[in-house]
Amino acid sequence: MTTTLEWLGTATYRLTIDNLVVFLDAYMDRVPMAPPVGLSAADVSRADFVLVGHSHFDHLAGAEVIAANTGAKIVGSNESCRVMRERGVPGAQLLPSQGGERYRLADGVTVRVFPSLHACTWVLSDAGCDEEEHGHTGLTQDERMSLPGGLVQRVTEFVGGGSEEARILMQHIQTSAGSMNDGGPLVFLIETPETSIFFQDTSGCWTGVLSQIRADTAILAASARAAVDGEPIQGSLAGFVAMEAKLLGTKKVVLGHHDNWMPPITNGGFDTGPVRERLAVEVPGAEFIERGYLDPIAL
Ligand SMILES: [Zn+2]
Repeated sequence: MTTTLEWLGTATYRLTIDNLVVFLDAYMDRVPMAPPVGLSAADVSRADFVLVGHSHFDHLAGAEVIAANTGAKIVGSNESCRVMRERGVPGAQLLPSQGGERYRLADGVTVRVFPSLHACTWVLSDAGCDEEEHGHTGLTQDERMSLPGGLVQRVTEFVGGGSEEARILMQHIQTSAGSMNDGGPLVFLIETPETSIFFQDTSGCWTGVLSQIRADTAILAASARAAVDGEPIQGSLAGFVAMEAKLLGTKKVVLGHHDNWMPPITNGGFDTGPVRERLAVEVPGAEFIERGYLDPIAL
């Protein structure tokens, strides 16, 4: 089988396995301030499945368009499926999942679904991906929510500035298909006779789950303060990615969610050099693959 992966910005990828086309997340139609990814959800004429990691707009939006135009089935949480139903996707195209499911995508190709965690967007993090962060452990949810938060607060402050860009950004968030609730993040393992691909779209994990999975290629989300086993990571984002790659025993690492997907909030994206260096130490032999949007990676 011929397996090809293409990045479409943020945490969205298109995976092609012979004639099978699978979208991993569906968010291509970003704010006009973000660099274009070269493909709009409306341009997608072929898709069999859309696997959605969680229900926030920067992952889910676009799945309703792809489903309508191609008949693709959407695998996502109950919350993702609720939003899709509201946007007119028929129930027959929705596969609500909690983790524990295995779906046949094509002859010889399946996907397993696992429960996962969202990054700690409630902590304000300005650290570079090699800077260690500590603290914020042992907090209850109400204590977390009373902290000066991350993305939501940043957007609120920016919108409060009242600029035209802020108006566009707010309108984008309000009209894109998504939920304020992450819906319970999921991760996926796609298996073909020749290879296996792990897909994660937000920087959080249960180490006990990851240690049960083996993946030849891992698509790992790198943004915000990572969450490990329900607590903020005591360390760096680069260290988080390397730890995950090690747990998965992966041979190829591809990043997601690390680009400048929502300027000026995302502030330029980040330098991936430290991830490469940390991987070389923690998982020697693993290949770190970096490509631009729509530049195909042969797996
Ligand atoms: Zn999210």
